[in-house]
Amino acid sequence: MFEQSRNLKLFGLMASIVLSCAAHAAEKTEASVSFSKRELATAAWIRDHASKENQSYRILESLTTEVGSRMAGTPGDARAVAWAEAKFKELGFDKVWKEAVRFPSWQRGVESAEILAPFSQKLAVTALGNSISTPEAGIEAEIIRFATLNELIAAPVESVRGKIVFIDHKMKSANDYGQVRQGRASGAVEAARKGALAIIIRSVGTDSHRLPHTGGMHYAADVMQIPAAAMSNVDADLVARILMRGGPVKMALKLGSHAGEVMQSYNVIGEITGSELPNEYVLIGGHLDSWDLGTGAIDDGAGCAITMAAAEFLHRHGLRPRRSVRVILYANEEQGLFGGSAYASEHQAQLKQIQAAAEADSGQGPVLQLDSFVGAKARKLVMQMQSVLAPLGVKKGTSDADPGPDMGVLKSAGVPSFELVLKSDDYFDIHHTADDTFDKIEPARITQAAAAFAVFAYLAAQAPIYFGEQMPVVQKSH
Ligand SMILES: [Zn+2]
Repeated sequence: MFEQSRNLKLFGLMASIVLSCAAHAAEKTEASVSFSKRELATAAWIRDHASKENQSYRILESLTTEVGSRMAGTPGDARAVAWAEAKFKELGFDKVWKEAVRFPSWQRGVESAEILAPFSQKLAVTALGNSISTPEAGIEAEIIRFATLNELIAAPVESVRGKIVFIDHKMKSANDYGQVRQGRASGAVEAARKGALAIIIRSVGTDSHRLPHTGGMHYAADVMQIPAAAMSNVDADLVARILMRGGPVKMALKLGSHAGEVMQSYNVIGEITGSELPNEYVLIGGHLDSWDLGTGAIDDGAGCAITMAAAEFLHRHGLRPRRSVRVILYANEEQGLFGGSAYASEHQAQLKQIQAAAEADSGQGPVLQLDSFVGAKARKLVMQMQSVLAPLGVKKGTSDADPGPDMGVLKSAGVPSFELVLKSDDYFDIHHTADDTFDKIEPARITQAAAAFAVFAYLAAQAPIYFGEQMPVVQKSH
């Protein structure tokens, strides 16, 4: 009896310890969830050592030199996919694979524009992505100027019919992008509703170079399709000055761009497999496609290189964190988030296994701020992450992070998200132009960004809890 009762007592004691531990684990409060001293010291080591490397700069040099421009569906895109697979393997990633992405393709053709009267002037123009062609002989018509898309929407039909619409919306800073790009994206639909023959916009960019900025535009099923182009900022200034003199201004526009067949490209993925929770993921990455005019150095070769270098750093130093770190190089972001949408639907069943998502797609860095979109229990962990990043100049951010265009698809589905906010005050000087080339990259900037992403990826993958518990309601949709 004695033995038995002692055993029972012991069993009871052990059971209550087990139960109280389980209850304790389940009830970890906001205050008690934190990284260990050792994890924080490791993260600081990563920060200090990764910021002395130039791996991201070398990866970007390789992509822009060996591949160059890689518009979705072109031979350059196919070479970029092959480059990415080979580079992930060369860098020693544990798993490397690609996932098919399909989309309607688009090709650029001839493009020219000039003012015919009252003063003959050639203009630097480029077709907007997805634009149809003009008739082969081109379109000749009077220009009508609008300061903004909204001004066009408010205009009487009679004033627009039979003319070429000119939207002259000037981008003053990077903050204007969301608003000014509406004219590029939707201007053709609104102009066609009022009977315009074509649309030409002031480039969506902050520079004063004689280089037009391309970018995506769309049509609507119930509205006639008209050709759409952008002129350089300095040409828009010129046209505006000619218009100021009064009287009709006549323009000739010729575009040979056109839709192509449905094409296939790939999201290319490299994984550093987690040591304890290999089926939970921290997702970082960028988009592999670019526009065709430049070599896609800042948009978005930089984002690809920053995130590849960040994950590779952890791997090379044997810092395998608990969860897997996946670097996703998305296909065809530029023409409609095709890669981001494909990843979200392909991995629909595993969305709850995504610990964090953060894309780099706003330039070469440095990272200025850490924005998060996580459950209440994870907030202290985010504060600790920011503290480790602070010596790199990374400030506290908002709690409604925009994780980038492709990862935004995941955020809309409730996935915990982060934005390592990249300095972008000079980003729109060369964005989507022929000037988006490797020589614009400053090693110190891209290296800081890679170090910040390495710290972020390590701590997110190492964290003691799932970031998605008690998530706030999704505010924005992408
Ligand atoms: Zn981009």
